[in-house]
Amino acid sequence: MKVRVLASGSKGNCILVSGQGSALLVDAGLSLKRLKEILFDIDFPIQNIQAVVISHEHSDHIKGAGAVARHLGIPLYVNENTYAAGESRFGRIREIKFFENGTRFTMQDFLIEPFSVPHDSADNSCFLISERSNASKLAILTDLGYPTKLVKQKMKSPSTIILESNHDIDMLINGPYAWWLKQRVKGKHGHLSNVQASELVGEILHDGLKNIVLAHLSETNNEPELAYLAMKNFLASKNATCNLFVAGQHQPTEWIEV
Ligand SMILES: [Zn+2]
Ligand SMILES: [Zn+2]
Repeated sequence: MKVRVLASGSKGNCILVSGQGSALLVDAGLSLKRLKEILFDIDFPIQNIQAVVISHEHSDHIKGAGAVARHLGIPLYVNENTYAAGESRFGRIREIKFFENGTRFTMQDFLIEPFSVPHDSADNSCFLISERSNASKLAILTDLGYPTKLVKQKMKSPSTIILESNHDIDMLINGPYAWWLKQRVKGKHGHLSNVQASELVGEILHDGLKNIVLAHLSETNNEPELAYLAMKNFLASKNATCNLFVAGQHQPTEWIEV
């Protein structure tokens, strides 16, 4: 199984997971047109995508979900609260598959374990994804205010973690956002900062952790170099050797082998 973050940030999120027999998208916060452009650029056949799995109803995660599902005739996997909150923006979908946070489900060869995280949405899902034929797990952990006990427990087994590193706290505090929005971003239902990302990694570091992909970086309150260096220095201080990537808003990452 391999993964590529096609876009990440408040202007749109989309992650492509490709396995032995099929592929899926986690979130489709890009227009169908933009998604097609990216897939063309990376030479990935759009027909291989068999499902769109939705984390939560914020538009940077669902903007293109309905259009993509309709265009490909594929199902949308979503929890009921998120679907209800985003229903009008999904539009008419032929096949909706409801999952429940805390209950593992399968999509062809994929095993998907959704779990709840604190965020200012109806019921945000983060995911552990693996394949029946391979025990290696991918974790997708973005859009959360803080790492709960459950999050820390879930993060102990994945070999690859796509991890939110949304803001540098000084840039946020001294930046242009209105006071209420600063409170929202750094609050318990907002987003993880660079420091919170490192702290979480410090608690879950294990020998099997191969890749960390920093994601959902703010274009206003963070810099890719800042997020990268914060995590890189932290990993060095722990003598950890895992690969480190930064996902961007405008450029897909390379393929990362989970
Ligand atoms: Zn988001
Ligand atoms: Zn969100």
